Amino acid sequence: MRLLIIEDEKDVCAFIAKGMKEAGHIVDVAATGKDGLFLATTESYDVMIVDRMLPELDGLTIIRTLRGAGVKTPALILSALGEVDDRIMGLRAGGDDYLVKPFSFAELLVRVEVLQRRMASPAHETQTQLSAGDLRLDLLTRKVVRGGQEIELQAREFRLLEYMMRHKGQVVTRTMLLENVWDYNFDPQTNVIDVHISRLRGKVDKGFDTALIRTVRGAGYVIDDHV
Ligand code: CA
Repeated sequence: MRLLIIEDEKDVCAFIAKGMKEAGHIVDVAATGKDGLFLATTESYDVMIVDRMLPELDGLTIIRTLRGAGVKTPALILSALGEVDDRIMGLRAGGDDYLVKPFSFAELLVRVEVLQRRMASPAHETQTQLSAGDLRLDLLTRKVVRGGQEIELQAREFRLLEYMMRHKGQVVTRTMLLENVWDYNFDPQTNVIDVHISRLRGKVDKGFDTALIRTVRGAGYVIDDHV
């Protein structure tokens, strides 16, 4: 899986990163809250490990900000503070698990794997229907329906919507869309994505009370069950 570690203590960070790599995972690290938040919103991860006390932005603020932006990447909070109140605060902020330092690597690994399994859709491989709110996309019939109304999409719009729905609740960046929907190499000057997103919105969201496709400023787009 792809992991993000946000931890300012170099030794702890290196220890976790080394262990996770040895366990076969791909690891990105950030040493400040600001860098961590940037990575968490611009890249896509299966699980994040977030230290509570960090320079610039603390761990709880990072998680609260991400949840507010619709990013649902499971987060395990690391903390030197083991009081019950701190645990509650961490979970209230949108954290999914909480581990007190010092911890054993074996326990951290197990907890991270549990978080990933909980998030991964068990039927992913055989899934033929994707949904976001009242929007349904059928991969077999290639029909898109919202609120009982069929929506006609061009092939590219269908692929774009499918990619976003497969990453529901996660910010998809322009780079991700270019690589996965257009098979282009990254060209930051192109506005092809914005044009297609705008068209897709016109078909999927126009005339409905709830907009499912949202822009995350400076990061990309996210499709969600609700806003
Ligand atoms: Ca710290």
